[in-house]
Amino acid sequence: MSEVIDLLAQLVSISSVNPMGRDLTGDDVLETRMGHFLEAWFQQEGIPCQRQTVEPGRDNIIAHLAGGSRTVLFEAHQDVVPVDNMTIDPWKPEIRDGRLWGRGSCDTKAGMAGMMTAMRRLKTAAPANMPSVTMLCVVDEEHQFRGISKAFEMGAGEMGIEADMAIVAEPTELEIVASHKGVVRWKIVTEGISVHSANRDDGVNAIVRMGQVIQALENFHQQVLRSRTDPALGNAALSIGCIRGGTSVNTVPNRCEIEIDRRLLPGEEPMECIAEVHAWLTEHAQLDFAPLFEDPWVISPPLQRTDDETVIRQLAQSCDRILGSHKISDVAYGTDAPVIAGAGIPVVVFGAGSVRQAHSKDEWVSIEQVEQATEVFYDFLVRVGKG
Ligand SMILES: [Zn+2]
Repeated sequence: MSEVIDLLAQLVSISSVNPMGRDLTGDDVLETRMGHFLEAWFQQEGIPCQRQTVEPGRDNIIAHLAGGSRTVLFEAHQDVVPVDNMTIDPWKPEIRDGRLWGRGSCDTKAGMAGMMTAMRRLKTAAPANMPSVTMLCVVDEEHQFRGISKAFEMGAGEMGIEADMAIVAEPTELEIVASHKGVVRWKIVTEGISVHSANRDDGVNAIVRMGQVIQALENFHQQVLRSRTDPALGNAALSIGCIRGGTSVNTVPNRCEIEIDRRLLPGEEPMECIAEVHAWLTEHAQLDFAPLFEDPWVISPPLQRTDDETVIRQLAQSCDRILGSHKISDVAYGTDAPVIAGAGIPVVVFGAGSVRQAHSKDEWVSIEQVEQATEVFYDFLVRVGKG
């Protein structure tokens, strides 16, 4: 087994479930054990590292390998999504059919293992002009992006995170993702007055009110967002994913809530997008009541393609050398990268595995891709210090 696959198997066997707002408990929940493993691994490799507590039991691990004046930031998240309904043992990595199976194998422990392995090789080889490398292993990417937010709370520089360029590990199938959409999620609530359904005209039905809101939101998407487009990413979008209301069929409901998922294009700002929906309802829906907007629980800005194309160019050259070609792409899912971009560090997303296997009931990653990604990361580190 190659050193990166050996490390990946170890990472997969360490459970690090993000409860994602649910009341999950048990040994496999939270990134606690992963943080301990990472800290011990970097110490054993002689690479200094520090912890940054985000929440009890949930620590970012930040390792720094000192080299030349140019600094590369590697970033990967420690958490994985819950394991309900999985058809394989999530924590017993299995190697079969050229794949490694298990929760997190693809998203995103493959990328983490590749980056760590490349860093270890760089330290051992210590080539002339090697860059400095900071590896940031964050918590809570899958739910509220609190790990990366904490790391850059004070801008670049806090916890020593200063870098000339960054690569975020996610399963991109070895494509260089230069931009992606953002997302903001929040609830809208309508209120009514409960009465017995036999006396329905004495009450106010919150579900019927919500019906008006839903129709107005659909009009907003069709008339406004569908024609708001980005050449690489397609159109902005609003989708209603959940609705809850009512307690029994013979009671007029006094409350109804929906959950909104709004996908953002570069240039759109999450809180302004919520305000825009509010303004649309006020101006176009002719409501005789005021729906309530709860604070968003997910705010993930879009990633705009970096102006400083050095990181794209250098990574493309490494892909050309190792893979024979490169592809620069734009995707619909969100990552930690916009927070890094917001700190003024040019950033792209790159890694082994496909988003189609991420979060799946039988998650796996191609062993060949993990090894190729590792070679790309290493080639990038060796060359980038010379540029
Ligand atoms: Zn991920």
